[in-house]
Amino acid sequence: MKIVKTLLLLTVLIAPVCGSFAVAEEIVVYSARNEHLIQPLFEAYTKETGVAIKFVTDKEGPLLQRLKSEGANTPADLLITVDAGNLWHAASEGLLRPVDSKVLAANVPANLRDVENRWFGLSLRARTIVYCTERVKPELLSTYAALGEESWKGRLILRTSKKVYNQSLVAMLIAEFGEEKTEQIVRSWVANLATEPSSNDTQVMEAIAAGQGDVGIVNTYYFGRLLEKNPDLKLALFWPNQGAAQSGVHVNVSGAGVTKHAKHPAAAVKFLEWLSSEKAQNLFADANLEYPVNPKVAANPEVAAWGKFTASPFNLTQAGALQGAAIRLMDRSGYR
Ligand code: FE
Repeated sequence: MKIVKTLLLLTVLIAPVCGSFAVAEEIVVYSARNEHLIQPLFEAYTKETGVAIKFVTDKEGPLLQRLKSEGANTPADLLITVDAGNLWHAASEGLLRPVDSKVLAANVPANLRDVENRWFGLSLRARTIVYCTERVKPELLSTYAALGEESWKGRLILRTSKKVYNQSLVAMLIAEFGEEKTEQIVRSWVANLATEPSSNDTQVMEAIAAGQGDVGIVNTYYFGRLLEKNPDLKLALFWPNQGAAQSGVHVNVSGAGVTKHAKHPAAAVKFLEWLSSEKAQNLFADANLEYPVNPKVAANPEVAAWGKFTASPFNLTQAGALQGAAIRLMDRSGYR
């Protein structure tokens, strides 16, 4: 009887310990980024730590809708998406939780993360000017606003205002210049358009390469992708707003936040910290020809070859907070 009791006691004592070892640590990620951009990272992390990562990829809208409708029952621990506007949106819907991490605070510059630490930029892209090297002398370029000058009439190609990238760009212009000046800028762009706004950044560059226009605004990695496909591309990037009194090139991020109802919040924070670390930053950035956010990490040579620039120091939280104002402003300015 005593032996049985001891055995029972041992079972009771050991079971929870065994249990916690038997169930390997696991994180569930909802990602609006494509599988091919994130899977190598997940595999590297699992190999290093033994933590398994399950993931679901979908477009931004359906993914947020899913998080919202699942509520407290969501299996998702981490949301990965692009553009501070989207990250802000997820945070403002109450889908993300604040994360207090010294590692993230050290690795991610303050302007590239939420002021309430509900999301963190993990890779950086610039939204900058692209021009035709055969028809445009870069000396004639200067600022985003100057693309509205008379000399660019009928020569500017822009992507649609429906895309969050342009909504964030205009939101950041509002943060910098106020609504009145920004509206003047956007109206002057519209007046200079060579064609109806394009549906994506690659089309903007293809239209310029085909001679439909001479200058445009695109995210840097799309330029990199096109250049990889066509090394003879007669296009180049220009870094605007570099003067001493100017605020620098507009940048944005892809990033992530721990969900409000995460079942493995500590594991999710650890993974987020790893993503911001020196060893993971190039893996994360290089997959999409982006820049690391961690200032201790250098961009890969292909990306660095586009040249150095000063980036706008404005906090990207404003890309979300001013997004509604930006959409209304573009609408009344006739930017479709
Ligand atoms: Fe993109």
